[in-house]
Amino acid sequence: MATIFSRIVAGEIPSYKVAEDARFYAFLDINPLAKGHTLVIPKREVDYFFDLEDEEIAAMQVFAKKVAAAIKEAFPCIKVGQAVLGLEVPHAHIHLVPMQSEKDMLFTNPKLQLTPQEFKEIADRINACLAVD
Ligand code: AMP
Repeated sequence: MATIFSRIVAGEIPSYKVAEDARFYAFLDINPLAKGHTLVIPKREVDYFFDLEDEEIAAMQVFAKKVAAAIKEAFPCIKVGQAVLGLEVPHAHIHLVPMQSEKDMLFTNPKLQLTPQEFKEIADRINACLAVD
């Protein structure tokens, strides 16, 4: 059975899309640690991040780098933090979180409650900051 993230890529489940190319997809985490918290996934369904092919990890990281730059521009922060957990959804993903302090990366923190309108505005704001290449 397809993972929830594959179903998002297929458009079967809605998401707040931030960026996409032929191989990767970026969308807002529905339980954000901070405004701009984004997930980057490969469209190819692989559970464990470190089971991805070497070249795939490299390409995914370059894709995430562009998304992180857009997040930082849209939501000014000290740095965008990156984390790989994967304990909940068995489809490899990178969390990108704008950080004002180290504490913003604590996944045990309470998550923000945002309205659909707020999610959409956040996704649009990041998308607008993506460099066109
Ligand atoms: P983990 O697998 O531990 O890295 O956590 C999975 C992350 O995916 C959590 O932060 C969830 O909030 C997020 N998540 C789960 N389902 C969705 C969804 N349908 N849309 C956006 N984010 C999701």
